[in-house]
Amino acid sequence: MPEGHTLHRIARLHHERFAGGAVRVSSPQGRFAEGAALVDGQVLERAEAVGKHLLHHYESGLSVHVHLGLYGTFSEAELPMGPPVGQVRMRMIGAATDFGTDLRGPTACEILHPPEVDALIARLGADPLRPDADHDRAGARIRRSRRAIGALLMDQAIIAGVGNVYRAEVLFRHGISPFRPGTAITAAEWDALWADLVDLMPIGVRTGRMHVVRPEHDSGAPSYAKDRPRTYVYRRQGEPCRVCATPVAHKVMDARNLFWCPTCQSH
Ligand SMILES: [Zn+2]
Repeated sequence: MPEGHTLHRIARLHHERFAGGAVRVSSPQGRFAEGAALVDGQVLERAEAVGKHLLHHYESGLSVHVHLGLYGTFSEAELPMGPPVGQVRMRMIGAATDFGTDLRGPTACEILHPPEVDALIARLGADPLRPDADHDRAGARIRRSRRAIGALLMDQAIIAGVGNVYRAEVLFRHGISPFRPGTAITAAEWDALWADLVDLMPIGVRTGRMHVVRPEHDSGAPSYAKDRPRTYVYRRQGEPCRVCATPVAHKVMDARNLFWCPTCQSH
């Protein structure tokens, strides 16, 4: 599933390409036809991301909310666009630009009214990629919880936008066991974790790739898969830890794959 930096990158691109001009919005597949008709031809005022959610705000006050889920993708294109290929839920064509985009396979693509946008944002936790993020509130919630920090970091109601890769990597970078309860995370540890996310995630927005391995630990050892980022632990189960050579461990936590170094992250 795309992590928050991917959604912020899409939001930034859509804002650059479409904001300030009218947009033709349609649903070639039909499943979003009614919603598309409500914003078709309107000026897009702003595109933004909150965690893993994308919002297109139109001049009428209506917003299109997209959550890509596991399978959703945007295909960006220059105009003229060809006939839709496959199940295109939403097609956007900028009236004042040379660009369009096709959305396929999202978990959510819907019209929201302003109170619904407010409710969506209110139920999401602190997003390290947003300047308005309330990291103290997120920290307080973590430090009140007996749940494992590995699960808390993935809880979008506490921290929005962090997914499986940043979860595993940031815990490794701070030597914190993913099984430690939130109540045992100190204020200083939370501040450091947060600061690291605030440093790391914008690199993902800027470059489209995650950079999480510090230069001194990057021996050039290959990534877990072709064209994927090099990681300390994510998807490296059984491989030697880049720092201490202990085999990286793997376990399923809350139905998601979890990776950690049992030596570097022993407590
Ligand atoms: Zn290690």
